[in-house]
Amino acid sequence: MTNTADTPPAVPDMRTGNGFDVHAFAPGDHVTLCGVRIPHDAALAGHSDADVAMHALTDAILGALAEGDIGTHFPPSDPRWKGAPSRIFLEKARDLVRARGGVITHCDITIVCEAPKLKPHVPAMRENIAAILGIETARVSVKATTTERLGFTGRREGIAALATTTVVFP
Ligand code: MG
Repeated sequence: MTNTADTPPAVPDMRTGNGFDVHAFAPGDHVTLCGVRIPHDAALAGHSDADVAMHALTDAILGALAEGDIGTHFPPSDPRWKGAPSRIFLEKARDLVRARGGVITHCDITIVCEAPKLKPHVPAMRENIAAILGIETARVSVKATTTERLGFTGRREGIAALATTTVVFP
């Protein structure tokens, strides 16, 4: 990246991005979160595999780059993404960072739902995201919480996810 008056050379070019996504439950027997298949009494509705957590993270990385959002790069109207594994979206965002000479130094994902219980799956989710991004697992945080039965997640209508990431341009 070229420095401008807003980013003088003495200041490291470090950027924080955030992402948010929601998918509704639909009939099915599992959900996919951070690329991990988790048995459940419902699935998530969506054009791709509806991995709401990976979508939020992809948007966070794109946000750090100011490169639009997941829909900019993968229009839902395009039949190519029907049922697609969401890792291709995350890989695209990762590759955009690399193409600019950047490094993803950290990401933090919060998944919001009453069910399924996610804690047993958190280690696998962290490892999977770290492997895709090519960073240490210690730099990937995945947290799960509920909304105390309030709102749409509390009514078990779907799952929400938030993500924050830090991208550094050395
Ligand atoms: Mg989505």
